[in-house]
Amino acid sequence: MTIDDFDFKDKKALIRVDFNVPLNDAFEVTDTNRIEAAKPTIIKILEDGGSAVLMSHLGRPKGKAQPELSLSHIVDTVSEIIGVEVKFVPDCIGDQVEKAVSELESGKILLLENLRFYDEEEAGDKAFAEKLSHWGDIYVNDAFGTAHRPHASTTVVASFFPGKKCFGYLLANEIKAIETVMETGEKPVTAILGGAKVSSKITIIENILDKIDHLIIGGGMTYTFVKAQGGSVGDSICEPDKTDLALSILEKARQKGVSVHLPVDVVAADAFDNDANTRVMAVDAIEDGWQGLDAGPRTLELFRKVILESKTILWNGPVGVFEMPSFAQGTIAIGNDIAEATASGAFSLVGGGDSVAAVKQFGFDSKVSYVSTGGGAMLESLEGRTLPGIAAIQDQ
Ligand code: AMP
Repeated sequence: MTIDDFDFKDKKALIRVDFNVPLNDAFEVTDTNRIEAAKPTIIKILEDGGSAVLMSHLGRPKGKAQPELSLSHIVDTVSEIIGVEVKFVPDCIGDQVEKAVSELESGKILLLENLRFYDEEEAGDKAFAEKLSHWGDIYVNDAFGTAHRPHASTTVVASFFPGKKCFGYLLANEIKAIETVMETGEKPVTAILGGAKVSSKITIIENILDKIDHLIIGGGMTYTFVKAQGGSVGDSICEPDKTDLALSILEKARQKGVSVHLPVDVVAADAFDNDANTRVMAVDAIEDGWQGLDAGPRTLELFRKVILESKTILWNGPVGVFEMPSFAQGTIAIGNDIAEATASGAFSLVGGGDSVAAVKQFGFDSKVSYVSTGGGAMLESLEGRTLPGIAAIQDQ
């Protein structure tokens, strides 16, 4: 059942949102994306004539109340973004909450205090989840960022709402974007995987080999593949104990008919430093004392050709050390190519960790089809795991 199958008139929706937003020293919200992302779900419920009880975590208080991690800091920002007054209650269970919930009128919003002030939240405690369940008639999960956690508010609470639970629009959109890449997307499907290490991406690669036509490998992962094939990688980041794994990935890809595209040249530097001396070198002939920190010009041309021919694109991980401007050009070029392919009708999903930071930093977020809001949750989805928060809604 989707959220549109429910009429929230005179109903209280208990909504798990992900308002784990960054705060500055003055406790102001410095990035409002996650609040904006939850807006369509909240508005739908209020416009139906229902009310919304919002619950979230903020930071890692580890089971203790910490004033600096109180969700009271974000009340005004949520009010401004949703355009409705938000009431706050300084707890998430207990008598005060019971009173505030019973007084909540249709069209109004109540924000509960940080769930992680209780150990029971992360422990997935059933009794705690049951207490939370009293605050709504229908449970709506719209927190993709925590959907991979079997916590009380993200997973366990759903069991108290048989037939009365659904995904919010944000979570539904995340699921749809992943399904497009993994199942329904038009061919050719291309995955661009970068980032620092093969070891952190291996499960993703193994899972997606059945679903893609092209695999572009970039970033620090490159050098383990190059070394595995007998190349010299100089001082580049490399996992020598993973070379057998790299070879087995290449063999599996060959068996499955997936074309693998590795860099042919790199921008090498004589130090891990933005101001280091740089030279373009062949990827398999990097001299000692030099390390590859970005994709080279010939590589970018090759990658561009593949990207522009793709109809479905997944991007996870930068192709260089994009945090340093001298080594950001490759990542910017890939972003531009994906934006161009998207403008010509391809579906593009960017997700998981640093690639999201990169697309935002370089302004590509509005030029790709979908930017995921969940780092770890997206990585686990790409690994083919069933996320507990999603399964809990699907089990009716
Ligand atoms: P990940 O979280 O695995 O996606 O890795 C992202 C990190 O990989 C970023 O912080 C990049 O700076 C880093 N990275 C990308 N390319 C390289 C490279 N050639 N050498 C070292 N680090 C890299």
